[in-house]
Amino acid sequence: MRQRYFGAIVGGKIILSTDDVNHCLRVMRMKKGDEIEVVYKNEVNLCRIESTKPFNLSIVSKINEKHELANKIILIVAVLKGEKMDLVLQKATELGVDEIVLLISKRTIQKLNNFRLDNKLERYRKILKEAAEQSKRVKIPNLHQLITFDQLAKIKGDVKMIAYEEASGNTASFIKAIKQINNGDTVVCLIGPEGGFEEEEVNTAINSGYQVVSLGRRILRAETASLYMMSVLACYLERK
Ligand code: SAH
Repeated sequence: MRQRYFGAIVGGKIILSTDDVNHCLRVMRMKKGDEIEVVYKNEVNLCRIESTKPFNLSIVSKINEKHELANKIILIVAVLKGEKMDLVLQKATELGVDEIVLLISKRTIQKLNNFRLDNKLERYRKILKEAAEQSKRVKIPNLHQLITFDQLAKIKGDVKMIAYEEASGNTASFIKAIKQINNGDTVVCLIGPEGGFEEEEVNTAINSGYQVVSLGRRILRAETASLYMMSVLACYLERK
């Protein structure tokens, strides 16, 4: 399978980051004449390596393919500890998420004052970019700034769901919400932290137009709940 990179085209010249050039030449051991895909502005360009030193690419053709979900999915997930956060970012990207919003809720273990997003942002962005390349997407999901519960109304969507552990049971509520999704709708999924939601938070969400949904009869970890929602949505949206 051809390697894909997100790059830029400036004045007709294709530009990759130094890291990507190193990856291409050192890790993938590509040579002059080999082909790679460079994504720029949601377009996939089939490119040929014209020289390795200096690294020069030429565009062979545009590639038209469909790897994005038809609907925009925004995942609002409470900040999770360490590797769990990395896992959600990577896997949600593979599953087609459009935007990830990090939320600080009452029971979030990572508290706002000791969670330094600035220190993590670069690593998070790298995870999103690499997962988007690997899964052949044309978009790197946006990573939204941290929000607190009272800023929930800032996130706009057409069908909005909050997965609430106290509502666990059959999945009728989740299926009902999914069936409301129309062409072009933005879907928002809100998942709580390791410690679950406070009732007051769920009420705030309901007042902002969220539907409470159940993800089945077992209590899932926050990272499993995120990927469960993403998987079921992707399966439904790609049914045709
Ligand atoms: N510690 C809590 C569970 C938190 S699970 C407890 O023991 O009750 C973390 C998050 O995953 C929840 O806030 C919710 O958003 C989601 N979740 C997990 N299982 C769920 C289920 N069966 N139905 C709906 N949401 C669920």
